[in-house]
Amino acid sequence: MLDHLGHTEAAAAVASAIETVLADTGVRTADVGGPPAPPRSPRSCCGWSEQLPGRVEPVITVGLTGGIGSGKSTVSALLAHGAVVVDSDLVAREVVEPGTPGLAAIAEAFGPEVLRPDGTLDRPALSARVFADPAALARLNAIVHPRVGERAAELVEQARRDGADVVVHEVPLLVENGLAPRCDAVVVVAADPATQLDRLVRLRGMSETEAQQRIAAQAQLADKLAVATHVIRNDGPLEELAPQVDRLWVELTAVAERRAAGG
Ligand code: ATP
Repeated sequence: MLDHLGHTEAAAAVASAIETVLADTGVRTADVGGPPAPPRSPRSCCGWSEQLPGRVEPVITVGLTGGIGSGKSTVSALLAHGAVVVDSDLVAREVVEPGTPGLAAIAEAFGPEVLRPDGTLDRPALSARVFADPAALARLNAIVHPRVGERAAELVEQARRDGADVVVHEVPLLVENGLAPRCDAVVVVAADPATQLDRLVRLRGMSETEAQQRIAAQAQLADKLAVATHVIRNDGPLEELAPQVDRLWVELTAVAERRAAGG
């Protein structure tokens, strides 16, 4: 898996980068740009890599997915106390921020009309350009995908240098894009469509019709559960979520321990 981390994220980019670049969604809770949270793993805490000089610290790759509004970001924020979280949506936004080569390349390819007066990407304008034109969409893909893959790979490398045991890739369309086999563990956050609908309407301000369309556009929960190695049920209150994530963390660190032991 270590050899495939870069490919994994490049593929994850294909999964969601474009729709993220083009979408206007809310702020995410997991912050890939911030400093990593203090590690909870006993092995990291006791300077394991110092005891074995020259050995590459093992990192296990966890795919975290689930339907829209299921609670992925809420779960990844809880996991971020111990794991390093790479949020593919956030990375896709980061690589087209003002001042980035990614945004400059988009402006060069599509013209200044895809930029707002404040220099940020005008997503609706770009969207209008590419969705009417498959060749333009391919050009946009060629700009965004490699940059997302490179940035994600950098974050994973940084995590490894920091001695992380577990890297969680939050990828909304992990299952739809066949990325599950590339992960050491696949965590599915499962919520009933009625729960998703309620959250999207009540907390995100979507119309009921739009929320229903977005839910219907994704893979069915059953398809996600079919490839899950771990399932978090998130239909109840937050008090029921946190203990599940704690148990998940114990299980993931056990996977990391087995990997470190050569299993
Ligand atoms: P998206 O697919 O749109 O990125 P997501 O799967 O990451 O969504 P979150 O953003 O984590 O979902 O959660 C959606 C909304 O529901 C958020 O406002 C979050 O605070 C809220 N939420 C998540 N889980 C719970 C819960 N157990 N109890 C109450 N509110 C919750």
